[in-house]
Amino acid sequence: MVKLTEGRGKELFRKYGVPVPPGRLTRSAGEAERLTREQEVPLPCVIKAQVLAGGRGKGGAVRFAATPEEAKEAAAAILGQQFQGETVREVLLERRVAIERELYVSFALDRSLRLPILIASRQGGVEIESVADAAIDRQAVEPLPGLVAYERRRAAGTLGLAGPLAADLDRLLQGLYRLFQEEDAELVEINPLAVVDGHLLALDAKVIIEDDAAFRHPEYAELRDDRTPLEEIAREKEIAFVQLDGNIGVIANGAGLTMATLDVLSRFGGRPGVFLDLGGTDDPNKVTEAFLLMSRARPSVVFLNIFGGVTRCDTVARGLVEALKRVPERERFPLVARIRGNNEAEGRAILQSAGVTSLSDLHDSAQAVVEAEKTAAAAGARTA
Ligand code: GDP
Ligand code: MN
Repeated sequence: MVKLTEGRGKELFRKYGVPVPPGRLTRSAGEAERLTREQEVPLPCVIKAQVLAGGRGKGGAVRFAATPEEAKEAAAAILGQQFQGETVREVLLERRVAIERELYVSFALDRSLRLPILIASRQGGVEIESVADAAIDRQAVEPLPGLVAYERRRAAGTLGLAGPLAADLDRLLQGLYRLFQEEDAELVEINPLAVVDGHLLALDAKVIIEDDAAFRHPEYAELRDDRTPLEEIAREKEIAFVQLDGNIGVIANGAGLTMATLDVLSRFGGRPGVFLDLGGTDDPNKVTEAFLLMSRARPSVVFLNIFGGVTRCDTVARGLVEALKRVPERERFPLVARIRGNNEAEGRAILQSAGVTSLSDLHDSAQAVVEAEKTAAAAGARTA
């Protein structure tokens, strides 16, 4: 996932004709003073931390200034600070405008409809998650005809815009939809979309580029630095592998089962540290690769949770047994295996012959994992 900061998002907005206030990005408080003194950014202005987290307004990461000195002070107060775990390295300085109304619009990818949707709400400026469902209008957009006139008119109605403001919205939505399509976004959000002096202005920008289209966007390569080295290796091997901050390793097949496994572990007090989704594979070598990768993440215990379908239980068992032979002594970990489904008996027998006991009940297995984790932690504490 490539999430753009507001400043980068607004550059795209400009390119696609979505109106934004005049503004400049800077990494220094002195520069903030100069930009406002020399009126490259008109005063009064807004100073906004360029971080990926939302809620900056509430969190003190959006400030106002009426003089160059205040702009400098505000920038100095924000730059270098931590905001939700991110260090602020850059601020956006923008003309401060008088907001008459705050609205919300976005295009998002609805994965269950498999279509883009246009979301509109009169209640902008607050997190959309906190807005009552009845106050949010969602329209699926058919990609072949694209965003059509009546959809744009309905959005105008939802937002209570008429006359020149409706015309403004019409143009804005066309630009925003084109951005969504051409930049391969999975989300473009304007919150708030402000009514200012009889016109619409995007005061905030949230743009997320779809990961599967990343190869078409080398310009974002340097933004994609959120992967750990092991995640990078996994990606090259086409294994879905994600590192979290716990210490239990999870190997499952299919995104749904993988997520459910994480939930069940959490419910029993376990903290998942890395998870790996085998997906559908009938190749024991891929399973071996996956296990070897998992062992390099040094989990304190590994939970293997397989529901055999395309990925048969015996395939996984074979791959696992091969991996166990190859994992170096110091990287060994306790293992709890739960297998169900296609070729379950064969899988169980193969595991048994390698000394790995397998369970069949999910809750029993999760509890066993959490117990094993505690034992491992206690042993670790004694040797440390
Ligand atoms: P977020 O809180 O991270 O989503 O940051 P936003 O960019 O949405 O800014 C937060 C809030 O600051 C907005 O909802 C506005 O109410 C306010 N804000 C931002 N720019 C301006 C501006 O130019 N003038 C005024 N009056 N308020 C602004
Ligand atoms: Mn916002």
